[in-house]
Amino acid sequence: MRAQVFNPLTTVRNIGILAHVDAGKTTVTERMLYLSGATYKRGEVHDGTTVTDFDSQERDRGITIFAAAVSCDWDGHRINLIDTPGHVDFSDEVERSLRVLDGAIAVFDGVAGVEPQSESVWRRADRYGVPRVAFVNKLDRAGADLDAAVESIRRRLHPAPLVVQMPIGREDEFSGVVDLVGMRALVWGDRLVDGPVPDDLLGEARRRRRTLEEAVAELHPGALEEFCAEPSISAATLAAALRDLTRTGEGLVVLCGSAYRDRGVEPLLDAVVRYLPSPLDVPAVRGQEGEVRAADPEAPLAALVFKVSSTATGRLTYVRIYAGTMRKGDTVLDTGTGRNERIGRILRVQADRHTEVDRAVAGDIVAVVGPKGARTGTTLCAPQAPLLLEPPNATEPVVSVA
Ligand code: GDP
Repeated sequence: MRAQVFNPLTTVRNIGILAHVDAGKTTVTERMLYLSGATYKRGEVHDGTTVTDFDSQERDRGITIFAAAVSCDWDGHRINLIDTPGHVDFSDEVERSLRVLDGAIAVFDGVAGVEPQSESVWRRADRYGVPRVAFVNKLDRAGADLDAAVESIRRRLHPAPLVVQMPIGREDEFSGVVDLVGMRALVWGDRLVDGPVPDDLLGEARRRRRTLEEAVAELHPGALEEFCAEPSISAATLAAALRDLTRTGEGLVVLCGSAYRDRGVEPLLDAVVRYLPSPLDVPAVRGQEGEVRAADPEAPLAALVFKVSSTATGRLTYVRIYAGTMRKGDTVLDTGTGRNERIGRILRVQADRHTEVDRAVAGDIVAVVGPKGARTGTTLCAPQAPLLLEPPNATEPVVSVA
């Protein structure tokens, strides 16, 4: 019998953040990077120091224009955050970044709920079958209302919302959430304080837990048996059902919080790890002729270029590796130009710094220096086993950033 081998790919999450401009995507990203230790100094959108928006044009305009991939570590997992521009003018780039995601966080404004642009990005993510969790942000703002926001998600986007948190306090007084899966109170502070649900919230928390259980039981017949047999589904069973429903897209896990509360996005990082898929949980990639190539480090290389930018470090070609291993010094075939190219350096981008690595494997997202003519949409592959991930006319001119 073969021993079960631990596959590190199960600990990778390639995700994007989808949002209407101003819903708080940049701030949420900042907090995630800060909490996971990828950035020492916390950036603030209003003083222009955020690390995901690292070119000056973006800082000047205060919106995220150019996609970048940033890695951070959380709870033994590597989260690669692929920036998906929220501005409507840049929908081509949204499209391109959606192609390389395995999952996404959809951020909504707790006051405005679903806005027109959130709807259009949502539909695109539907087209690519991207599993999502929702984060209703800005619950500290006057007029913020989780239930109203959830209702607008249900009405306008049509998923079955599975609300896994309940806010503690409203607006100014918003101070934490009850995690309805584990039935624990998580209160923000210098650190996240995890304790029993306070007595005065217990009745409402139990009611909401029951609503969540009923919604899950309706969507997930597997969980139904236990639901009938027991007064309450266990946290582990409920979490497993929520993970399945997220990955099939049948249900939408909804979290809430405020990126303004220092520890406010910690439960969101936990949810990314818990519910969103790893590169092994999504279907294997297919070439233009239908050939399937598994997310296996031993398979011939197939990587998609999804972003090219010029930086102080040189011309960075961002790739998602779907199959095989890319090593420093390797020769790869650029399917766009038909030329063989040499992989110079391989960089993992962590917020504002780059870490050089010797190799990157299937499932990974890295930036490489070397391929001179690679354009977004191009496949880089093993010269002896060519594969085209996107049609040749899908390649675009290089977007250069000074
Ligand atoms: P993006 O356009 O989606 O990237 O949104 P930003 O992160 O730039 O946020 C838009 C504005 O909302 C900025 O002024 C932020 O400071 C503010 N903001 C972000 N998150 C919160 C929050 O949780 N609460 C409040 N009150 N404001 C927030």
